[in-house]
Amino acid sequence: MALLTLNARPLTVLRAAALFDGVSSSLITEPSVVIAGGRVVAVHGPAESFPADAVMVGLPGLTLMPGLVDPHLHLCFDASDDPVGHLAGIDDNELRQRMADAARRALRAGVTTVRDLGDRGYLALDLRDRASDADPLPTIVAAGPPITTPGGHCHFLGGAVSGIRGVRAAVRERAERGVDVIKVMASGGNLTPGSLPHEPQFGAEALRLIVDEAHRHGLPVTAHAHGAQSIVDAVTAGADGIEHATFMTADGVDAPESVIRAIAERRTAMGWTVGREPGAHATLAPAAIASRMAGLIATRRRLYQSGALLVPGSDAGVSPAKPHDVLRFAPEDLAVAGMGPAEALWAMTSRAAQACGLGHRKGRIAAGFDADILAIDGDPLQDVAAIRRVRAVYAGGVLVTPVPGFQLRISAQ
Ligand SMILES: [Zn+2]
Repeated sequence: MALLTLNARPLTVLRAAALFDGVSSSLITEPSVVIAGGRVVAVHGPAESFPADAVMVGLPGLTLMPGLVDPHLHLCFDASDDPVGHLAGIDDNELRQRMADAARRALRAGVTTVRDLGDRGYLALDLRDRASDADPLPTIVAAGPPITTPGGHCHFLGGAVSGIRGVRAAVRERAERGVDVIKVMASGGNLTPGSLPHEPQFGAEALRLIVDEAHRHGLPVTAHAHGAQSIVDAVTAGADGIEHATFMTADGVDAPESVIRAIAERRTAMGWTVGREPGAHATLAPAAIASRMAGLIATRRRLYQSGALLVPGSDAGVSPAKPHDVLRFAPEDLAVAGMGPAEALWAMTSRAAQACGLGHRKGRIAAGFDADILAIDGDPLQDVAAIRRVRAVYAGGVLVTPVPGFQLRISAQ
């Protein structure tokens, strides 16, 4: 019955000047992308003909590309100068509304999939499960409250535990709640007073327990880790991903060559925190980051040259320079590390989708993939700023929003 309903839905055909498919290093010219039931059915060149009842959408002069995937943000933080204080001051109902607004903002800018790596009260899961064509949201992958230590980084999100039984129970609780990924704060962080980024919170043994328990439940683990010791412990424990990976020490940055090699060989997903809104807030990096910037950039270059699996995420929500659509400013940061436009685009689409466990559905425009498609003005392989000239966003085949003033030409063939 469901299949009949799906087949009965009309075909939509997007016709544009060019297409970047999420994995190639060149564009397809004059593509036609056929969509039905929220998925891409086929990608054709210019000469195809389509059924008479297909809805033809002309996007002349524009380039189609997969929706962006942000594998690290926080819908519960409001991108103000005091996200922690503001969070403490509102109840869950208001927080739900704000999180939905944050998700809508990301979607309008072309971020069609987000991975929330730390919420309060599992509210990102509520949002994830509230899909509706009438109020489209990005596809949400969610961790729930990050597992942390009492008083540790982001303890105020409600995920503080201690002891072997505590960490095991925390993983089980998240599995029962239906999270998509386990997030653990392996080291301290910048957002939490009294927490030092370069210092470990969980040791190697606790991290191993968390990873083993999560994998037993079929869940991946990504570990927030700044200090080199925490990075080593998390990688050795078998974590699937490392967030931030800054290799901070008490007074600088130190990334041993042997660790970089091990990371590259193991194919651990290294979540790079990138993207800042330009303007007044652009220079407001946390002091611990700002004072180490030269060392951080040098380490990123070494990681990039090592062939490590690099996944750009924004950490949106944590400061005024990090609104929830800030991922679109990532390519410039990636270029500083040596990454060219094509690889930056792969990293922000197909590779990020894989890191989120959605590599089979997201991050590409190809038959069988979800119809999460942007129409942008320009060739992103020549000019990455084109990803910020979004003229239309489709999420699961639903037109979310054309930019005001831009008219879609919808006509019969
Ligand atoms: Zn974060």
